[in-house]
Amino acid sequence: MKLFDLTGRVAVVTGGNGGIGLGMARGLAAAGAAVAVAARNRAKSEAAMAELAALGAEAAFVALDVADPASCRAMVEAVVGRFGRLDILVNNAGMSIRKPPETYTVEEWQAVLNTNLTGAFVCCQAAHPVMKRNGGGKIINIGSMMSVFGGAYAAPYSSSKGGIVQMTKSLATAWARDNIQVNAVLPGWIDTELTRDARDQVAGLNERVLARTPAGRWGVPDDLSGTAVFLAAPASDFVTGAAIPVDGGYASEF
Ligand code: NDP
Repeated sequence: MKLFDLTGRVAVVTGGNGGIGLGMARGLAAAGAAVAVAARNRAKSEAAMAELAALGAEAAFVALDVADPASCRAMVEAVVGRFGRLDILVNNAGMSIRKPPETYTVEEWQAVLNTNLTGAFVCCQAAHPVMKRNGGGKIINIGSMMSVFGGAYAAPYSSSKGGIVQMTKSLATAWARDNIQVNAVLPGWIDTELTRDARDQVAGLNERVLARTPAGRWGVPDDLSGTAVFLAAPASDFVTGAAIPVDGGYASEF
């Protein structure tokens, strides 16, 4: 058994067409997995597929609106239809609406929760029977530093990301006997479209991130590649229910 070899494994990365999702997809592809990119934007996904194919991976695009439970179920069916199996599910698709908590509509609150938490749960539910039938699988849920800390302008986002950690622990304990490991990754501040928007909307954010991150820099999507490979590979077969920060020390400093 090769500890970090993903040859013959099939992965799907929700929101895998850019940012952190594509960084993790690149890691999985380089380790030998076939990778399906599941997202809404077809043009962006086709560019991502070309990048993954250039790494030698078999790549596919599967249309997904993770906020729609029927779309989550259809996505898992489409991956299994295309590749015949599903070994690795990365629940990465996510979004935020930034405003003071007293100003959210219920619809805005639900939009964030549906995308970041309910969507991830429904994808897990849909993947479970397929993985169980295969004799096991790996689920990687993307949390955040806001799984741990609060954010004054991010009440639904931080609620969804706190929920991701508790959901991860619950599924890990439920599915350990099916040989399905379920873990979460908690990225620190990573330079992506999402955080570029935040930098535009929140005055002084760039300076605060640099001052508050012990590594003294923003992360880049490829900083997540290695952790994705570890959590997808036989190397992590006895690791389940964990929430691993990949944050340049952000969560460790007082
Ligand atoms: P990006 O905005 O770059 O990527 C988000 C991805 O999610 C896009 O590929 C988008 O694709 C997809 N997505 C959004 N909504 C949906 C939807 N309804 N259905 C399907 N796909 C969707 O953000 P990041 O790469 O920064 O974020 C990725 C994950 O990492 C998120 O869960 C985020 O919360 C988390 N995170 C990010 C941090 C950071 O510093 N950047 C820190 C901590 C956590 P499309 O539009 O094509 O659907």
